[in-house]
Amino acid sequence: MGLTRVPGLLYGGDYNPEQWPEEVWAEDVRLMAEAGVTMVTVAVFAWSRLEPEPGAYDFGWLDRVLGLLHEHGIAADLATATATPPPWLVRRHPEVMPVDAAGTRLEFGSRQGYCPSSPVFREHAVRLATAMATRYGDHPALALWHVGNEYADHTLECFCPESARHFRAWLQARYGTVGGLNAAWGTSCWGQHYTGFDQVEPPRRAPGPVNPAQLLDWRRFCSDALLELFTAERDALRAVTPDVPVTTNFMSILHGLDYWAWAEAEDLVSDDAYPDPADPSSHMAVALSYDLMRSLKRRPWLLMESAPSAVSWREVNAPKPPGVMRLHSLQAVAHGADGVMFFQWRQARYGPEKFHSALVPHGGTATRGWRDTLRLGADLRRLAEVAGGHTSADVALVFGWDSWWGLEAPESMPSDRLRLKDLLLSWYAPLHARGIAVDLAPPGADLSGYRVVIVPNLYLCTAEQAEALAAVTGELVVGPFSGVVDEADQVHDGGAPGPLRDLLGVAVEEFWPLPDGLTQPLRHAGGGAGAARTWAEWLRPDQGTAVLARFEGGDLDGLPAITRKGNATYLGCLPADLTPVLDRVLAGVPAIAVPAGVEAVRRGRHLFLLNHTTDEQRITLPYPGRDLLTDTDLRGDAVLAPRDAVVLRIEGDT
Ligand SMILES: [Zn+2]
Repeated sequence: MGLTRVPGLLYGGDYNPEQWPEEVWAEDVRLMAEAGVTMVTVAVFAWSRLEPEPGAYDFGWLDRVLGLLHEHGIAADLATATATPPPWLVRRHPEVMPVDAAGTRLEFGSRQGYCPSSPVFREHAVRLATAMATRYGDHPALALWHVGNEYADHTLECFCPESARHFRAWLQARYGTVGGLNAAWGTSCWGQHYTGFDQVEPPRRAPGPVNPAQLLDWRRFCSDALLELFTAERDALRAVTPDVPVTTNFMSILHGLDYWAWAEAEDLVSDDAYPDPADPSSHMAVALSYDLMRSLKRRPWLLMESAPSAVSWREVNAPKPPGVMRLHSLQAVAHGADGVMFFQWRQARYGPEKFHSALVPHGGTATRGWRDTLRLGADLRRLAEVAGGHTSADVALVFGWDSWWGLEAPESMPSDRLRLKDLLLSWYAPLHARGIAVDLAPPGADLSGYRVVIVPNLYLCTAEQAEALAAVTGELVVGPFSGVVDEADQVHDGGAPGPLRDLLGVAVEEFWPLPDGLTQPLRHAGGGAGAARTWAEWLRPDQGTAVLARFEGGDLDGLPAITRKGNATYLGCLPADLTPVLDRVLAGVPAIAVPAGVEAVRRGRHLFLLNHTTDEQRITLPYPGRDLLTDTDLRGDAVLAPRDAVVLRIEGDT
């Protein structure tokens, strides 16, 4: 069973026919059929064309587009078109435009021009979603609803009076009384004691650092406010078409939105991923985000947008060299995607994205871009049997947004060099290089199925989250500066690691952030030398807690750097090299040996080997099988051309 009623792996992209004369549409659908496109996303930015005047809909053109698609066997991921409110709505109700932290109301002329909390915007968006569902709910091309677009890309927060009212209501629901708010926010500090909710405002620009508890709740509120907006549209769609799945396209690992909560609210996870072709390690970072997408609902997901070649929004937009579009697409499938879609179908002639690559480039079908489009379509057809396949991982990385938001609060932390994405990547990169599958899991999740659980950082840790870690039966590794504060960003009694104190068998007496460029040498119990970078801690281990490494020299000379109690390893520093720690905890976890730059990913009964290097690579296959891309049997060694791939159906595996 695929993500939608469309069988096999989905292939397609954003289709914006409203930017083209109708004569072009016939060619579009003919080329889509030629390339093997199975689904396109329609009407994402089309509100002003669907409702040119208030309440007066013009569905005729979209009727014709959907009819053409259906005639050619192409399904529609139909957008609710609410990512871009039309000019008439903004001029009639200027208050729908968002206000920035300095108090400036933003102007029309881009996209996401809406206040997430505006009741006027919400009413109009829900009305349009209902109209779309009523008009197209029974359309045979309709396969998927696409609500909004890339929430929080431009508009994550709004500081207008309406947003302030919404924030106060959110706080009142959370804390009940203003006394509860004062206690949670620690308003006795700096004389911020409130006597009524009406005195509370969003964290606009202030003379100095803003209360970090207020900021944390603001982050939570902003994610929730947009989620409410999404949910309102979703409910309108479900009321009319309860059987059509609903998604919204995520933006990889985005700081602003708690995707654990968002994924629960949608039927399938879809993601937009734009690894930088100029960054030779970008395939590793994007693999982490793909594993997150697969983990969000523990189900296959959809790569909703990616770039066939260059994007248009970096300072320098490198194209994808030959082979990379295909390789990156296969990589998404390897990590659980049941389809690969692109922004966009036909390259625009105008607007901010006119230089963003597309499946049909400006130069038409006599281009390498179009040849890549055809080739990928053929390859995805060959991989149809991969759809629905699940990944089973032995290792989990624990991470959640509450802790991330708390960790990266500005101007109040021991060091602003602890960045959660960097910490995640520092663990993910060596696991990825060893060909070890990784799931991500939210704090508090049941982790009983994993042989190794790694918590790169859990600055904010509740008692319940600590209990979930204590229940881990495999190896547990906890990174530094964890268990520091509770859910209100207040330091746990007795200091770090707070509720993890007994589990880890160690107390943190003092944080010891290291200045940029300075390392603190350490020595492992086995004798090997190492170093900490960026962060260290003054640790006091309990009796019976083993010391796996000690600092050597410097201010922390002789103090424990890495400890172990039972199955729990604690890092009182950021080791420059995690190999000794990983070697110890990964003993017995199956790995796939591949050369550097080659990715090995198991999905169901298939093994993906992806050569991200520009050299030929020889790989000893861990299993014999049939390469679906070339339809040949392989055993022993496989030779991968530069930027080429093998997708092996493992012999004998069921
Ligand atoms: Zn607002």
